[in-house]
Amino acid sequence: MGGVRRRVLVTGGAGFLGSHLCDRLIARGDDVLCVDNFYTGTKDNLAALLAVPTFELMRHDVTFPLYVEVDEIYNLACPASPIHYQYDPVQTTKTSVHGAINMLGLAKRLKAKILQASTSEVYGDPSVHPQPEEYWGNVNPIGPRACYDEGKRCAETLFFDYHRQHRLRIKVLRIFNTYGPRMHPNDGRVVSNFIVAALRGEPITIYGDGRQTRSFCHVDDMVEAMIRMMDTGDDVTGPINVGNPMRTPVAELAELVIELTGSRSSLAFQPLPEDDPMQRCPDITKARRILDWAPTVGLRRGLEATIAYFEGVLSGASSAGGPPLRPA
Ligand code: NAD
Ligand code: UDP
Ligand code: UDP
Repeated sequence: MGGVRRRVLVTGGAGFLGSHLCDRLIARGDDVLCVDNFYTGTKDNLAALLAVPTFELMRHDVTFPLYVEVDEIYNLACPASPIHYQYDPVQTTKTSVHGAINMLGLAKRLKAKILQASTSEVYGDPSVHPQPEEYWGNVNPIGPRACYDEGKRCAETLFFDYHRQHRLRIKVLRIFNTYGPRMHPNDGRVVSNFIVAALRGEPITIYGDGRQTRSFCHVDDMVEAMIRMMDTGDDVTGPINVGNPMRTPVAELAELVIELTGSRSSLAFQPLPEDDPMQRCPDITKARRILDWAPTVGLRRGLEATIAYFEGVLSGASSAGGPPLRPA
């Protein structure tokens, strides 16, 4: 870049993942424009950046066109937790699909690189384990999760068609369950739900028998993967899976959270929600080879930092999150 500061757009930058990404981009010297409609994100997540001259925050809904000048676009705008994305499912699909069209149109005009925060949900309730990128998935197109899953699948289609048709430089990452400081305390996701319940001494609610597995990746590892993906050569389009390949049954996560919080919470069992996948685990062979990336933050260490964050939030003290666990 010859000393010229890189101008980077992060859509959904006030959210959980987006705010950590903004932190990292600012720390490495980029000029960051964060665009967010604050549907699930908050300015609190960006508190440390608001006074930084190289950081700019714009309230904007990506379903509407956006005319700005940037070199790189990280497209993260989209509610990610089932409670939030099912609250207004039509808006969820619009955000994924119209948002992708607008950001791809922007990237096309600017000849900018564009990264899509896709998801393991494109695999639906998978019948192949672990999931490699070649697997086409098993998605119910009319179920309650479809607004998110199909929206994200259509966004991937758009990315690859803009790449083939308009030679756009695209980067598609399929992100698996990620956790860490700044998760929304009420977003219904398993890590935040369990920690908040444990800290309040309320029952920890396990859906189903708790034998369903997820793979939990710490946000610092995820942000590193996103930046490495953006920095790959133009021949790398993805999709590339990123997540932690270690499988954790939901009941085991509950026990670990109870241990680490020293909580006396009991376990309460409730029925499994419709279309809730029984297993999800990334095959990260490609991420290892192409991005030279693998998770470094173990679940225990990552949970300890996340618990410390939620202790601050629940006591009304801080919502900033601690120092990075993965060195830059
Ligand atoms: P989040 O809800 O914390 O962040 C999403 C952000 O997008 C919020 O700040 C929200 O206000 C904003 N947003 C929503 N609709 C918008 C719109 N129409 N216009 C502008 N901004 C809008 O969720 P997150 O966990 O940080 O997820 C970020 C991205 O990563 C999402 O695209 C999500 O699908 C993807 N992802 C996350 C996970 C995970 O485990 N966290 C897993 C897979 C994929
Ligand atoms: N767009 C945008 N910013 C830009 C350029 C385009 O938001 O700088 C939006 C615009 O709404 C457009 C969409 O991106 O409809 C797709 O752009 P594209 O050029 O692919 O198609 P168009 O609809 O303009 O033919
Ligand atoms: N889950 C649970 N209790 C909760 C929240 C979630 O048992 O309080 C389960 C949920 O049914 C799913 C798993 O934990 O099997 C992960 O749920 P989450 O919503 O975090 O992510 P996703 O289902 O999208 O992977």
